[in-house]
Amino acid sequence: MAYAYDDQNIFAKILRGEIPNSTVLETDHTLAFNDIQPQAPVHVLVIPKGAYVNHDHFAAEASDAEIADYTRAIGQVCQMVSVTPGAGDGGYRLISNAGDAGVQEVPHLHVHVLGGRVLGRMLE
Ligand code: 5GP
Repeated sequence: MAYAYDDQNIFAKILRGEIPNSTVLETDHTLAFNDIQPQAPVHVLVIPKGAYVNHDHFAAEASDAEIADYTRAIGQVCQMVSVTPGAGDGGYRLISNAGDAGVQEVPHLHVHVLGGRVLGRMLE
């Protein structure tokens, strides 16, 4: 499958330094920054630096080094979020929207990490 990537999307501009961001973590292949419209006391977006639209694009075309780096960085952000006061004894939620059905707003792969409060039940 051929994946089309729009390099004018907001996160591509953030990665190029054209739009400022509040960085939480940066590694060789990953950037994590605070969401501009947080849906919880802590709301971090974790993105690969490579030009990938979504998880299936990433799995198909990213290198093992990129996948390892991104996976580890997500875990490190989760660890930070889980110790943020407010969410009972800790915890977090990961969300990744993709495509039309997933109502993805920004077409660059991202995982939302939410925490800092008890988030309520989903997927019942
Ligand atoms: P999606 O709906 O694609 O899963 O989520 C995109 C997220 O990007 C939204 O939560 C939105 O608030 C966030 N966002 C959109 N534009 C910007 C921006 O310029 N800076 C930051 N930090 N977040 C943004």
